[in-house]
Amino acid sequence: MLDSVRARLTLWYVAMLALVLITFSIGVYILLAHSLHHRLDEGLKGGVDEIARLLAIERAEGESESEAGKNAVTEPYFPGKAVAVFDTAGHRIGEQITPGQSQAQIPPPSMVPTETIQLYDLAGDASSNGIARRAAVQRVTVPPTATVYIIVVNQSLTEMLEELALLRRIFYIAVPVALMLAGLAGWYLARKSLAPVVVMAERARQIGAGNLGQQLPVANPLDELGRLATAFNELLARLDAAFSQQRQFMADASHELRTPLYVIRTAVEVTMEQAHREEGEYRDALAIIGQQTRRLARIVEDMFTLARADAGRPALQPGDFYLDELLMETVRAAQVLAGRKGVAVELEPAPEISYRGDEGLLRQMFLNLLDNAIKSTPAGGEVRVSLGQRDSSYEVVVDDTGTGIPVEAQVRIFERFYRVDQARTRNESPGEGGAGLGLSIARWIAEAHEGRLELRHSDERGSSFIATLPL
Ligand code: ADP
Repeated sequence: MLDSVRARLTLWYVAMLALVLITFSIGVYILLAHSLHHRLDEGLKGGVDEIARLLAIERAEGESESEAGKNAVTEPYFPGKAVAVFDTAGHRIGEQITPGQSQAQIPPPSMVPTETIQLYDLAGDASSNGIARRAAVQRVTVPPTATVYIIVVNQSLTEMLEELALLRRIFYIAVPVALMLAGLAGWYLARKSLAPVVVMAERARQIGAGNLGQQLPVANPLDELGRLATAFNELLARLDAAFSQQRQFMADASHELRTPLYVIRTAVEVTMEQAHREEGEYRDALAIIGQQTRRLARIVEDMFTLARADAGRPALQPGDFYLDELLMETVRAAQVLAGRKGVAVELEPAPEISYRGDEGLLRQMFLNLLDNAIKSTPAGGEVRVSLGQRDSSYEVVVDDTGTGIPVEAQVRIFERFYRVDQARTRNESPGEGGAGLGLSIARWIAEAHEGRLELRHSDERGSSFIATLPL
């Protein structure tokens, strides 16, 4: 049961409330008991003072010692008290007992040594029918003959104790009832405020890879649960996007792999149709198969590189080398391909730059850029490569005088499997047409080196790509 947040919340709530209520009740009880005691004592003192005053008056009026004592306690009414006046020998001179009280008792002489009022408790005994009392006593000396009287005022504690007992009973009943009601209310409130969580959990349980597009209900987007649901929905949306991208990648990849496989199968089938063929025909078929195998190998290689990219943290194999030398090597390799096409590739004079990075990956990035530039440049055109340093980075710029990239395609060329003219690329040069992965790989390589790869500009006079690598 304690595994439920609802039960824990309710328990905490009731426990805190119990602490507050019990502290409050004890506080109220102590204050009231104190105030009742104080009032009782004041009443007793008032009685003593009144009797002393009357004794003085009676004596001043000439009454005898015993008459004065009698009159002083019988003339006024002392509600709820028992009063008595004694002489120094302890003889009771006069007294008054109101209903419900028992006779006032003189304390032992040791308790009345001075003329100040003494207050003390009397336990219940036979003389008071077992009722506890509070008492005040004072020794007074009254002129004109300096008569000494002992005034005693008693009052039963029953009334006060009953009041306190009633208060205790009220607390004994009221506190548990209040806690029970609060517990029920807390339980209900906890259930009400946690209800969205239950609904969310139920809905979340139904969401899988197949229906990531679903959303959790958001009751109030501003409260904590609403924010949780919103965050969860955003997570779902991100997962959904990642999944669709993955699915798209699979679809595109299988589509790309199908074409060369289809060409190979057709070449094999056509060649095998006849039992005997010229050697030249076999050679042609093998040439087609070789070309398509290279294409397949390149696509698989590219996909492998991208799978590495997707694995998260780039697994670079850094080493020290000269950037200008690496660039010179790639340009030289590209010149072979470009030469066949009648395209010139020039590397502008570059300073010596020592660099630390993944040489293999950077070579691939430069090759991809050069490859694209040469492929899009018609015979007689030119590709210029430059390497320079600016602020805190190295810049490699690849300019070509090619056909350019249509404006609407410029934002998409870095997407995987995106090609400007899907059909034409493959038909024109079936062996060399890329799968649309070159630029996305190149960009990943730049970013893995904490750099950037961007298209600077492109129009019908040519395109310009810039790769920025941090120092
Ligand atoms: P691929 O590997 O097929 O070359 P890329 O991702 O490298 O794919 O390039 C995507 C598309 O961008 C290509 O289809 C190509 O048409 C276009 N492109 C890339 N570079 C250039 C360029 N320098 N000039 C013109 N078009 C380019």
